[in-house]
Parts: sequence; structure tokens; C-alpha cells
Amino acid sequence: MKQLNDSCYVFESAVNIGYVHKGNYGMLIDAGIDQSSIRKVIRELDEANLPITHLFITHAHADHYGGANYAKKKLDLKVIAPTLEAAILENSILEPIYMLQGNFPLTEIRNKFLEGPPVQVDITVESGIQKLDNHFEVELIATPGHSYHQLAVGIDGILYAADSYFGKEEILKHKIPFITSADQTLASLEMLLEKEFSGSVPGHGPYEENFKSTIQKNIEVHQDILEEVKTMVACSQGGITHENIVAEMMEKYHIKADQLSLFLLHRTAITAYITSLIETGEIVSIIKNYRWMYQLNE
Ligand SMILES: [Zn+2]
Repeated sequence: MKQLNDSCYVFESAVNIGYVHKGNYGMLIDAGIDQSSIRKVIRELDEANLPITHLFITHAHADHYGGANYAKKKLDLKVIAPTLEAAILENSILEPIYMLQGNFPLTEIRNKFLEGPPVQVDITVESGIQKLDNHFEVELIATPGHSYHQLAVGIDGILYAADSYFGKEEILKHKIPFITSADQTLASLEMLLEKEFSGSVPGHGPYEENFKSTIQKNIEVHQDILEEVKTMVACSQGGITHENIVAEMMEKYHIKADQLSLFLLHRTAITAYITSLIETGEIVSIIKNYRWMYQLNE
């Protein structure tokens, strides 16, 4: 447990868990991937005599809410989450459903990386400055792009940035980071560059006071991938199929996708760059010979 100021803490791990203390109240920010990850955090806070009364879930990805159901039951926590993300948290089968583009999910992908135990949300929230449950004065910042309605939490000068950006090492390790929309991701990052905080904790990566160079690095990574996708479409004769561009991108970036879950996560991310290029009019999507294909917009 690392204390960041009078009220803010972080448990740095593969998936960071935040904690904010206000008198008799204490709010966890995200819950880790499973019971064992959140159990350690609860134990440490217990030993320090710090209360846990609330849990804020930034977005409905299993690595951030997998431990939530256990924590809520054990401590009778009030769970707070963004609208839309809350719908997925309460019906967590939706994540493997959308990963498989709407089909009922194969048993193989109903694992803890894509589907945590569902958790009932007590309070749904939108972005803006507000007092959560009358106890926590926060600025909730909409950072869509990584997930549909992810909210980062600004409190007492600290930004809990969720997965709006990754640590420098982490983003290089991912090669093609998980996103659902490249233009939303980039707009969220540009917006965060304008915000003033004394430090920031991403979902994956270290707490940093000078976090803006890390955000800048994230922007460069996304722009490079966008450029790569565009080049691939430009170099294709008569267009490229969705299946081929996904495969070529994974090959080019040396992605290890030997399991269906990993393959689907990367397919979604690559598709996010493609759909953004379609929306900006740089490439067009066509159906040709029963295949979904892309070509440059000339
Ligand atoms: Zn995530």
C-alpha cells in the first residue's frame, strides 16, 4: 500500500487498486481480477484500521471488477459505477458476448479474464463534479475509448485514470493495447493532457507525478498503429478483408494470440482503429464477394 497524500492510496499490482479515506468512510477504486487480489487489499486496510464502505468501479472489464462481488458481499459495500458499464457489471456475460460479436459465448471464453462474477450496482453515475453518496467530492472524467463509458476519478489532486492510458512499459508490452474506439481513445488522452493533477495512477503501470509524458507516449502508440492500419489498406490491391488485416496486424506486431480470448481481444482492438478510419472518411468499408473489406477512400 502506497500513500499518495492525506487521503489517497494505491495498491500497485498487475491491476492497480485505489483507495480514498474520508473520516468514517473509505472508497476502493476498482477491485482487481479475483477474490484473492481484493482480499489482500481488504486485509491491509483492516490492519491499518482504515474503513471500507464504498467501491467505485471505473469500467466493466473483468480484471477491474472480478473481485467486486466478493468484496460487496463480505463488507456490505455500496457499489458505484458509470451507467452502461453498470449494465455489463450486473450482466457480466455481456463481455464475452460482445467479444464474440454477439454470439452466445463459447465456454472457452467464459474465463476470469473476460467474465467476472456479476455485481449489483447501487449508484450509477455520469461524468462531472459531484459528491458521491454525500461523502466523496470527486471529478468524474469521461474517458471512453478503452471501454464504452469508462470514468476516471479525480479526487484531492490525484487522478485515478483507470485504463485511459497505460504505463510506458505496459503499453509497449501490450503492443496493440485493448481499445474499442481509436478516435475516442485519442480524444480522451488529449483531454487528460489539459487536466491539472499532482499525480496519476493508471490501471496498469506505476503512479507518476509527471504522468503527462506517459500520456503523450500512449498517444504516439495509437497514432502509429492507426498509420500502420492505413498503410496496410493503401498497399492492398483491390481492398483487404477484415480477416486479413487482423491477421497481418497481429503478425506485424508479433502478437502472441494462441488462445481464442487473446485473439478476440486483439481483433476488437485492431477493429477499433479500422472503424475510426472509416468514421473519419480515410478508408471505406465495402462488402465484396460476401467478404467485409476495406479500401482507401479515393
Ligand atoms: Zn480495461
